[in-house]
Amino acid sequence: MRLVLLGPPGAGKGTQATRIVTRFAIPQLSTGDMLRQAVAEGTAAGLRVKHIMDRGELVPDDVVVSVIANRIDHSDAVSGFILDGFPRTVAQAEALDQELATRGIKLDAVLELEVDEDALLDRIKGRADDAASRGEPVRRDDNPEVFKTRLSVYREQTAPVTEYYRSQGLLNVVDGLQPIDAVTEQLAAALAAVTSDQIRSDVR
Ligand code: AMP
Repeated sequence: MRLVLLGPPGAGKGTQATRIVTRFAIPQLSTGDMLRQAVAEGTAAGLRVKHIMDRGELVPDDVVVSVIANRIDHSDAVSGFILDGFPRTVAQAEALDQELATRGIKLDAVLELEVDEDALLDRIKGRADDAASRGEPVRRDDNPEVFKTRLSVYREQTAPVTEYYRSQGLLNVVDGLQPIDAVTEQLAAALAAVTSDQIRSDVR
């Protein structure tokens, strides 16, 4: 199962991706996590993107496309994966299609968590407070000012990716404001429908 999980920052993509990973035994490929790791390790790519990430802006398409193209070739991703935080621009979505096509594979479904912006701002404040109260480090980009930038970047550059996948007939939208378990169940139901459609078309 090859999936993309879309949704604005703070919509709960990370939480839901972790649950899909457990149910479908596929790895979660998060460009944000990979980039944060590169920053922590002080690699050349990490040094290049650190300040961009701190500002809440998008790192260049070529950087994330090559990160993902390398990652999907790892043995654990051969039978499937869930992309979390990628693609974030239509150019990235097109590059992903090309990378997959050269490997003779394609996406099975795109899942989108829909959440309105006011709710997101409340959530992000809660996320930073929760991490701080657990004594965990708070992400440098989880503060209200940078978060507003991340939201406007999402609105302007990432929202069009939804239409890109809708036009390919791959998009499944779920209300991300529901309780976490209800969101998981709706995502699982959407994936079950995709799987049974695939079985039907294989049989035909
Ligand atoms: P995330 O953890 O997905 O919220 O990503 C954190 C930050 O990493 C983003 O605000 C961007 O600066 C950068 N980033 C992650 N994924 C991408 C992507 N697909 N394209 C561009 N920048 C990205």
